[in-house]
Amino acid sequence: MHVQDIFSVRRPTLSLEVFPPRTPESTDRLFETIVQLEDVAPDFVSITYGAGGSTRELTHDLVVRLGTETAFNLIPHLTCVGHSRWEVERILERYAHAGVSNLLALRGDLPGGGCGTVGDFRHAADLVRAIRRFRGHSDPRGFGVGVAGFPEGHPGTPNRLLEMDYLKAKVDAGADYICTQLFFENRDFFDFRARCDLAGIHVPIVAGIMPVTSASGLNRMAELAGGARFPARLLRDLRRANGDPDVVRRIGIHYATEQCVDLLHHGVAGIHFYTLNQSAATREILSNLGSLRQAGDAVREKPGAG
Ligand SMILES: Cc1cc2nc3c(=O)[nH]c(=O)nc-3n(C[C@H](O)[C@H](O)[C@H](O)COP(=O)(O)OP(=O)(O)OC[C@H]3O[C@@H](n4cnc5c(N)ncnc54)[C@H](O)[C@@H]3O)c2cc1C
Repeated sequence: MHVQDIFSVRRPTLSLEVFPPRTPESTDRLFETIVQLEDVAPDFVSITYGAGGSTRELTHDLVVRLGTETAFNLIPHLTCVGHSRWEVERILERYAHAGVSNLLALRGDLPGGGCGTVGDFRHAADLVRAIRRFRGHSDPRGFGVGVAGFPEGHPGTPNRLLEMDYLKAKVDAGADYICTQLFFENRDFFDFRARCDLAGIHVPIVAGIMPVTSASGLNRMAELAGGARFPARLLRDLRRANGDPDVVRRIGIHYATEQCVDLLHHGVAGIHFYTLNQSAATREILSNLGSLRQAGDAVREKPGAG
């Protein structure tokens, strides 16, 4: 289903992110997770891509297998760093052939922290343009396209005014929605959303949420989301757990639940859970929320609700 159609019928959307496993054992575990996540009926599931093409086949194969074995709307990520135009064209052809309707267009970071300009693309906006120019899709609109947004700013562009221009360029190039980097302070998201509005960016902005589930996971999250701020309130709560893994987990899930409630109250277009291929935390948060679907249905039933 084209992402424009998803957003026209579902508000707020619920989406999940998984990454392609590298071993048969972790693939089996992921498919156990997938079975559990089918219950929560996500509006779409996105699948990450290793920058430079390091998971090119793994991502593609996982998308094809999920497409055969589940009813999920799938959104493969595609990073352009290190790729030639010819390679990107071939990737698009394969996804079009596999019946994939949407892509998340990213620049990606090369291993070792480099961003490089190796390849034919400099920025994600160039990739969005290439996807838009692609003519081999059976949907006359072509692929639906999402792009990344950074409520706390992207570390590569300290000038936040310029950064908003660059985000606008991605949307003007043809992006249908924005999915944000994870964040812990909703104020940052609301301010980002307001700045987007002022900049004339009016596509749906989906909030990226990743609950803290372990003390060691905290550092990994800080690495994954370069620049993400960990509020003192969260850190203080986690410290009170005294290293008890069960308490840490409950605090993390409680915190993420509160974030989601607040986002829903403020009319978020969608919530995207970074699942790290686990289902338990996402399911617990959704069970705590209870009414995410009802909230969405209520908004949908109001004529003209956007
Ligand atoms: C939702 C989400 C999903 C992600 N999934 C993946 C994934 O699957 N695989 C992966 O490897 N990485 C992934 N990433 C990480 C992402 O690739 C990196 O954060 C990367 O550094 C930025 O990608 P981008 O698409 O925002 O790039 P861009 O939009 O190209 O921005 C990158 C930097 O360049 C700056 N910039 C943009 N345009 C210009 C311009 N014209 N002139 C000068 N500077 C400019 C931006 O301000 C920013 O600092 C994801 C990030 C998010 C938020």
